[in-house]
Amino acid sequence: MPPAAVMFTQTRLDVAEAELSELEEALDALGRPRFHARQIFQWVYKRGVTDFALMSDLARDLRADLAASCTIATPVVERQERSEDGTTKFLLRLADGKHIESVFIPDTPAQTFCISTQVGCAMKCAFCLTGKMGIDRNLTAGEIAGQVRVLARELGMLDTRFNIVLMGMGEPLHNYEATMKALRILADEHGFGMSGRRMTLSTVGVLPALERLATEPLMPNLAISLHATTEDQRDLLVPINRKYGLKELLDACRRFPLKRRERITFEYVMLQEVNDTPEDARRLVRLLHGIRGKVNLLPLNEAAGIPFARPSDDRVNRFARILAEHGITVSVRKSRGRDIRAACGQLITESSRKAPGARLATLMETS
Ligand code: SAH
Repeated sequence: MPPAAVMFTQTRLDVAEAELSELEEALDALGRPRFHARQIFQWVYKRGVTDFALMSDLARDLRADLAASCTIATPVVERQERSEDGTTKFLLRLADGKHIESVFIPDTPAQTFCISTQVGCAMKCAFCLTGKMGIDRNLTAGEIAGQVRVLARELGMLDTRFNIVLMGMGEPLHNYEATMKALRILADEHGFGMSGRRMTLSTVGVLPALERLATEPLMPNLAISLHATTEDQRDLLVPINRKYGLKELLDACRRFPLKRRERITFEYVMLQEVNDTPEDARRLVRLLHGIRGKVNLLPLNEAAGIPFARPSDDRVNRFARILAEHGITVSVRKSRGRDIRAACGQLITESSRKAPGARLATLMETS
């Protein structure tokens, strides 16, 4: 039996976890008019307020009622690190003491928040530091949307347009319900009012979830972490390929509903002398035939414990040129925030079970 205090907090509605319709129902249950839900959403998302007492357009007794029966769980900024290039990494503490990282990447030219969907990740991609952590737990919808709230508030960007990319820690399609709920919360016109076009979901391609995503009314941009051009090579680099193979994944991409002018982004991490040869490039051209896509090359961000090297610019350019010559739109992702370990695949937080030193030692051993 949990202590009574825990049981009590569990029965309190967490506004951060609620879609507008759920908050309206909660107000109904309190015997209050539903329209207050919109006001609360505006306070929480447009103004970054997490204390009911400050919601000055609500009657005092309603504020008191809300404070007694609801919470607004919000990740706490434990550390902020700013890179030379303006990229800022936030270490956030969740209600249960676990940690995640979120990153602000300015002027890409958009302003972009890179958001986590899990504590750690279960996918174990061979070149990704987060994968080395393993999975601790899923984030809740409130924790996913909460990162956006916290970053917008901390950066003074509550009134600024920004994009979000689900490219932080975790595999979004391995935490489907919470991820999609978070996107719906972020899309609500009484909150951030973000359109799907400003959101990008990056995935290794968990196929059943990808098929489900294809049917969603709220559709983010899709980015697929491809990284290899043969089944054997992808089996090694992106282990989930052993379950959902390259061919099936690309077939699902072919079927994926795209609006006019929309394209799927294929992310391709470049590992020196592993998948960066002209043959790889030509195979990639053939694989993408008939798919409305573009390719984003990610030269490896190297790290201790990652047994691959970053190819030279010449090799990256040669690869890019082959794709371009075959009519494929290709871009090379500039690594941002590498000096503060905020770049792709570099997000890692210490597990609660191990001291930072021990965690680093584990990483070195696996190299
Ligand atoms: N789980 C999601 C989001 C991961 S992060 C996914 O796999 O798509 C976003 C991108 O960074 C992915 O394409 C991922 O494979 C890539 N990445 C991971 N580690 C990297 C590294 N060390 N260098 C460059 N890109 C990396």
